[in-house]
Amino acid sequence: MEYEMPVTGTDIWYYYICPREVWLMKHQIAPDQEDEAIEIGRFLSETTYQRDKKEISIGSIVIDRIRQEDGQLIIGEVKKSSSYSKSARMQLLYYLDTLRQAGIKAKGELLFPKERKKEHVEWTEEGRRELEHAIADIRRIARMPVPPPPKRISFCGKCAYREYCWAEE
Ligand code: SF4
Repeated sequence: MEYEMPVTGTDIWYYYICPREVWLMKHQIAPDQEDEAIEIGRFLSETTYQRDKKEISIGSIVIDRIRQEDGQLIIGEVKKSSSYSKSARMQLLYYLDTLRQAGIKAKGELLFPKERKKEHVEWTEEGRRELEHAIADIRRIARMPVPPPPKRISFCGKCAYREYCWAEE
């Protein structure tokens, strides 16, 4: 059987921001060893609440909140900002799909307490197809001999790879 590279929720999250970053992470390239952990830590704390004891692990995924409403299981992911909501939606959809493959049907919600916003995320056939496409594309990107060229986006300013991508500017 052909080896299938594992794809994580974090890969999905980055894929919708910057495919080049997916390649760099998959190839474990750390352009600035000293800076990287701090940068990633800072970035995560800017976008995601620190995981607390309420989190629940199901297999390889970790869920912030879980509750039942009218017999329906609802999993929640808490974010500090809705700036990267496409990434957050697809990551949550990935969790919903992973649960579904384990026979657990759930709905999802993204919670942005600072903005007093809540977004509902539901598993759909269409969403599953988009996810499958993303997973296949992540594997394709990871197999590329060189990374995709850098594209300037607003995320670059807080990216751990900014020196690597833009050092000569
Ligand atoms: S600096 Fe910008 S182009 Fe480079 S990996 Fe980060 S987000 Fe992507």
